[in-house]
Amino acid sequence: MKQVPFHPEELDLFFKQLWKKSLNPFWICKPIADDFEMILANPAALALDPRQKPGTKFSELVASGKYPDGILDGYHKCLADKMPLEFEQTPVINGKEYLFRTFLVPIVDAEDKVTHIWGTSHNLTDFIDPQRELLMINQYLDAKVQERTAQLNDAMRRLEKLTITDELTQLANRRYFDDALKREIGRAKRNNQPLALIYFDIDYFKTFNDTYGHTAGDKCLRRVAQVLSRHAQRAADVVARYGGEEFVMLLPNLTCKQALQVAERVRTAVTDLAIPNADTVAGIVTISAGVAVIKESSASADTLLKLADNALYQSKSKGRNCSLIAD
Ligand code: GH3
Ligand code: MG
Ligand code: MG
Repeated sequence: MKQVPFHPEELDLFFKQLWKKSLNPFWICKPIADDFEMILANPAALALDPRQKPGTKFSELVASGKYPDGILDGYHKCLADKMPLEFEQTPVINGKEYLFRTFLVPIVDAEDKVTHIWGTSHNLTDFIDPQRELLMINQYLDAKVQERTAQLNDAMRRLEKLTITDELTQLANRRYFDDALKREIGRAKRNNQPLALIYFDIDYFKTFNDTYGHTAGDKCLRRVAQVLSRHAQRAADVVARYGGEEFVMLLPNLTCKQALQVAERVRTAVTDLAIPNADTVAGIVTISAGVAVIKESSASADTLLKLADNALYQSKSKGRNCSLIAD
């Protein structure tokens, strides 16, 4: 006797369970005039698209625009060939793109007519998602790295500016000036050109602070700094706050006489501000200047500074509010 490995009821039960429990969609449809009509869809199919109710026309489902063109080609081919068919579909459902491998099996009756088509799909989306996610993560990381690099460069530029800027006056600071002096001395020697340095010091500034307070002193420093900036207009000119109420001006390729003229213009412009400094001879804020110019090829930064400082000292000795050239 031929052994039957299982009873038909068991097979029936198995397929019923598969229909109910499978995560893959199963459905049965039937061909109607140039269209297909849903007979039954399993829970997995309904979870994907609840509109797949019995009686729904496929053309209605497709008309929603969620499905790519040619989505029904497979059904038409299955109907025409009366053969099982396997193909891939990429519908967009609820804004998400899926990848399905779809199997269609035609049920052919005794008159060789396709009465139904059974279909099922394997949802392969999960296999392509990690790849896409990885790509998206990479793109996101790339963008983040670029953003962070730009922020870092920006911060570096600001930091660089901070390290060479005097916070109170926004002029270059002494550090910047020291570098610029060395650089310009080298250039002046190479080009055999003069290099002028003017040392400025506000007169009786201690008295000013004592009389009007530190905040007024700061404001005065800023105003004097603005005057200095205005008078160093060439690209290579450098104005810096050397410290306290002392300022320096570096003027490449300027003769002694020309530099003295600049010093005098600055001094006059400061008196023009007419900032009161009551307890002093002039009664207003004044500034003294010492001018030095590098001539010999042996001159160093120190020599130039010392010469300008000496000249400034002489200006102070002469009664302040004047500019003198170093001997
Ligand atoms: P001289 O005419 O001989 O230059 O006298 P002076 O009073 O200007 O010189 P002194 O060196 O005795 O005093 C300088 C003053 O500058 C003292 C100090 O409080 C003030 N000063 C230095 N830096 C600052 C600052 O950043 N802000 C303010 N408000 N005052 C400052
Ligand atoms: Mg001083
Ligand atoms: Mg002073």
